[in-house]
Order: sequence, then C-alpha cells, then structure tokens
Amino acid sequence: MTGYDGGPVAALRRIAFLLERAREDTYKVKAFRGAAATILPMGDDELARAVEERTLTDLPGVGASSAKVIASAVRGELPERLAALEAEHAGPLTDGGAEVRAALRGDLHSHSDWSDGGSPIEEMAMTAIELGHDYLVLTDHSPRLKVARGLSAERLARQLDVVAAVNDHLAGDFTLLRGIEVDILDDGSLDQTEEMLDRLDVRVASVHSKLAMDAAPMTRRMIGAVRDRHTNVLGHCTGRLVTGGRGTRGQSQFDARAVFEACAENEVAVEINSRPERRDPPSDLLALARDAGCLFAIDSDAHAPGQLDFQVLGCERAEEAGIDPDRIVNTWPRERLLEWARSSRG
Ligand SMILES: [Zn+2]
Ligand SMILES: [Zn+2]
Repeated sequence: MTGYDGGPVAALRRIAFLLERAREDTYKVKAFRGAAATILPMGDDELARAVEERTLTDLPGVGASSAKVIASAVRGELPERLAALEAEHAGPLTDGGAEVRAALRGDLHSHSDWSDGGSPIEEMAMTAIELGHDYLVLTDHSPRLKVARGLSAERLARQLDVVAAVNDHLAGDFTLLRGIEVDILDDGSLDQTEEMLDRLDVRVASVHSKLAMDAAPMTRRMIGAVRDRHTNVLGHCTGRLVTGGRGTRGQSQFDARAVFEACAENEVAVEINSRPERRDPPSDLLALARDAGCLFAIDSDAHAPGQLDFQVLGCERAEEAGIDPDRIVNTWPRERLLEWARSSRG
C-alpha cells in the first residue's frame, strides 16, 4: 500500500478536480465535493472514530465511494480511486501552450453555483490559488439567461458582498475580481443595469441567444456591444460547439473583420475560449483578429474548479497563431489589467 499524507479533504478535492478536468460526470464530482465539505469541520479524532466504527456513510453527503477514500486517507494510505485517477488523468492536457500558460497571471471568465457552475465561489477561488493565479474574475451569467440562473441586479449585488467576504478571508496576494458574463441582447445592448456594470472590475460580453441571426444584424449587434463603454472582453465570438455532450453547432455569421476592427479600436479583448467543445474563435478568425491588432484574453470559462485548468488549451492556440504574450491581457499584472478595464472605456 502506498502512503498518503494529504488527508481526506485534500484527497476528495483532488479526485473532484481530476474528474472535472477530464470532463467526467458532474454528478459523481458533486458527491466527492459534498463529502469534502461535510468532513471539513470535523476533528481528526472524530473522523478516525467514524472510520473505526464504520459510520462514515451515516454522515450527510458521504456515500460508499467517498467513505472508502476517506477511510484510506485517514489510515495514511493512498486511496485507490485517487491513484487510478492520477494515473489516468493527471498528465498534461496538451503538448503545446506551456510557455504562454506560464506567462498567465489569471483568468477572466469563470462561473460558480450562483448561475450554472457546479461549485461555490470560495471553491473556485481556492483552486485558482492552487493553480498559481494572482486573480480570478468571477463572471456569472446575466438575468436573461434563465436556463443558467442568470443573476438579477439584486442577486449580483449580494454576490459582490460575498466576493468581498471571500477576499477578506484570503491570505496572500490572490484577489477574486468582480465580474459578469453579460448577455448581448438583440440590439447590441447589455443585459444588466448601468449601475451594476459600473460596480464591476471586468465585464465579458457574449451572445447566447438567436445565434443564427442574419449576418448584417448580427454584425450590428456585436459591434454595438463592443462599443458599449462597459465591455472589456468579447466572449466566445462565434458561439460554435465542435464536440461534446451538448452536440455540435455551427458558427454565427457576421462580418468578423468589422467586429475585430471595432474591438481593436475600443481596446476590447477578443476571448480565446479554452473549453474543448468551443475552441472559439476558429483558427482563421483568430488570425484575422491578430492581424486587426486586437488584444486577447485566454479564458477557461470554467463551470467547475477542475475546468480552470483548461486554459492551457487556449494557450496552445495562441502560440500556434503567433500572438505576442503582451497582447494577452491576462499576462498583465492585476493593476495593469484593472487600469485597462477601467480607463480603456473612457
Ligand atoms: Zn458564454
Ligand atoms: Zn461562460
């Protein structure tokens, strides 16, 4: 039996991280994260007694497979499930992108369980710290995206209090930044109040509805959003889905040159969305945005902590496209990033 001294909470969190990173069934992942949350406040003696008396599964949210992991870890043995996942899933997600990834200081696009993410805000922040980030922008959805439980102005205001509380409890240099993934409405306006948009650090604007609109109105819609003084990042611009459980979807039609020129002019970063099923923008459009002089943001668009690690996939694409790291806004130190997000909008 291989020894393990990480303790049961770390074992359960690592299992969840590896499953999420491998895009496995979120239901299983939730079970491990739930079990970790249950045992977190328990003392070592109390936990050891529960292992001894085989009463772990009496605890709320602790099922048979989590109990097995906990029992092994408490005995100082490497849990079998963890060993198997480390062997199968811990390797690099891709061969390229390492250099750009090393230059990244943060991530501008992530979701918590306040909208359609699978984990609480603090769990996203903890994992971002573990991945070496200096900052993470929390960008839950806006009200119109009801399927994703988009946040009303009131819920967003409450979320900002939680973000402040999370930052108060974190030691060190990491900061959780206030953000939104705001829907671009049909007329190019943004789906949140001016007042709330003004209170945020970074705003990602994305199209999530009527993706099949004709090219001319879609171009007007996107340029309208890019010119909005609040917009900092244009999220997953074509909306395509290339693989995965949600099926595939073609790209939205629009005048990409005109949209990217508007981005360059307004210092709006074009997002390189790292999600494996998105890979957005496609390579030809990425080259077009590069030649238009755009800034870029390489984002995970994580809906679970383990998915924060997707970023290297976007880094590989930026590297292939020959994009200078200084044009990638999340290679910038936090102060420069915040200054850009504030003042580029005039
Ligand atoms: Zn989105
Ligand atoms: Zn998103």
